Amino acid sequence: MEVRVRYAPSPTGLQHIGGVRTALFNYFFAKANGGKFILRVEDTDRTRYSEESLQDLYDTLEWLGIDYDEGPVKGGEYGPYVQSERTEIYREYAQKLVESGNAYYCYCTEERLNELREYQQENKLDPGYDRKCQHITNEERDKLISQGVKPVLRLKVPTEGKTSFDDIVLGKITRKNKDVMVDPILMKADGFPTYHLANVIDDHLMKITHILRAQEWIPSGPVHVMLYNAFGWEPPIYAHLPMVMGKDGKKLSKRHGATSLIQFREGGYIKEGLINYVTLVGWSFDDKREFFTKEEFEELFCLEKISKSPGIFDYKKLDWFNGQYLRKLDDSRLEELLIPILEKEGVVSNPISDSQKSIFLNAMPIFRERLTLTTDIVDCINFLFNDIETYDLEVLVPKKMEKIQVINILSHTISLLEDFNNHTPEENEEIFKNKCDELGVKVGDMFMPLRVAVTGTKASPPLFESIKLLGYEKAIERVKNALEVLKQE
Ligand code: GLU
Ligand code: ZN
Repeated sequence: MEVRVRYAPSPTGLQHIGGVRTALFNYFFAKANGGKFILRVEDTDRTRYSEESLQDLYDTLEWLGIDYDEGPVKGGEYGPYVQSERTEIYREYAQKLVESGNAYYCYCTEERLNELREYQQENKLDPGYDRKCQHITNEERDKLISQGVKPVLRLKVPTEGKTSFDDIVLGKITRKNKDVMVDPILMKADGFPTYHLANVIDDHLMKITHILRAQEWIPSGPVHVMLYNAFGWEPPIYAHLPMVMGKDGKKLSKRHGATSLIQFREGGYIKEGLINYVTLVGWSFDDKREFFTKEEFEELFCLEKISKSPGIFDYKKLDWFNGQYLRKLDDSRLEELLIPILEKEGVVSNPISDSQKSIFLNAMPIFRERLTLTTDIVDCINFLFNDIETYDLEVLVPKKMEKIQVINILSHTISLLEDFNNHTPEENEEIFKNKCDELGVKVGDMFMPLRVAVTGTKASPPLFESIKLLGYEKAIERVKNALEVLKQE
C-alpha cells in the first residue's frame, strides 16, 4: 500500500509552530516510506477565511523547503485540492447521507437555537442541539421553508452504543455515542460543508492512508468514524500528535513568545535549526541523538517514535540549535542569509558595495562563532562599517570605575595601538596585558573601555581581531574621540 498523507490547514490565521510540526511529520513520514505528501486547503469556513493566511501557508512551506506532491497550483490526480472548489462533490455525497437516513435537514432558526441555549443554561441541562428536526412534521417544515428558512444538514448520531478507532500513538480510543457531539452540522445554510464532512470525503477520495494531526482533533474522531461507516468506507489510520506546550506545561501560546512561523523567520531563525528542533518536539530517534538534517529525517522518521506525552517547546533550546547551525553553514549560505539583513538595517549600502563585501567576508571567521540569531549580525559588525556617533558614558565607564581612571588607561593604549600592525592579534593581547600589569590595573578595566571605544558596544567579537579588521588607525581615532567625550563631561 502506498503511503498517502496530507497537511490540511485552514487559512484562518498565520501558520504557527504546531501546524509546522504537523506538516513536517506528514512530510517526513511520506518521504521515509516512499509515499506522497498532499497539501489540501480547508477553506470552507468563509467567515474566517483570509487571503493573507493562504499566502502565508505557501510562503511557509517554500521557506522550509517542503515540497508537496499534489496540491493547489500544482494539481494532481485527485484535485482540486482547495475545498471551496469542491462544493459540488460535497453536495452530492451529502445527498447520499440523506437518502441512507444518516443525515437530516434542520430548519431551526438562529433564534430558536439561542433560546434553546438559554433554556439549557437556566435549567442546568446539557448543552447542544435537542434533535427537534429529527421529528419535524411535513407541515411544520413546509411552513418554515415558505418563510425562507434555509436548512442545515445534520448527522444523526446514535444515542446508544459506542464508537472507537485505533490510534497509532494513543492506542484504542472509545467514546460513548451519547458523549459524542449531538448531531453536528455537515452542510451549512450557505451551501458550504463543515470541516467534518469535507475532511472525511476528501480524505477518502484522495486515498489518504494515514492521518497525522494534532490531538485537539481527537473529539472529531468518532464523528468522522461514523461518517466513514455511513458511507461504507474504511477509515484511514490515525496518529494524533502530542500537544506542543510551553515550559510551564500550558499549551504554547503568545504568552510564551513567538508562535507563528513568520515571527521566527523575521526574528533571525534559520530553517535548518527550526526544522531540526521542531521535529524533536514529540518525536525522538533515540535518547541521545539531537542533530538531524532534513534529509536524515526524510530517511529516519517513523510513527513508532512519536511520543504520547506532550512536547515541550523550549525557546532557549531552539536558540541553541540555531546558533549551532549558523556555525556549520557554508560561507555562501551564510552570506546569502546575512547580507540582506545588513542591507535592510542600513549597516551597509543597499546593494552592498564591493569594498563592504570584502570587509564582510574578512570578518566572517570572527562573527560566525558569535551568532545565535542571524539578526545578531547587526550589532556584531556594525562598527566595521559605521562611525560611532555617540558614546554612552554609562557603558564607556564601567561600574566601579572612575572617569579619570578610564581616561588614564585609555590614553596608554594609543601608543600600543600605533605599534599594532607589527604584531599578531595574539601578541598584541599579550602586550596589552603586560601594560595592564605595569599600570597595576585589571585586564578587564582596560579591555572593556577599549572595546567600547573602538566598537561602540560591550558585546563585540574578540577585541584584537576586531581592531585588526577595523584598522589600527581608525581604532586610534576612535579612542581619541572617546577621550574627548570623557574629558568634556
Ligand atoms: N483543517 C483542519 C486544521 O485546520 C484539519 C484537521 C485535520 O487534519 O483533520 O487543522
Ligand atoms: Zn432543527
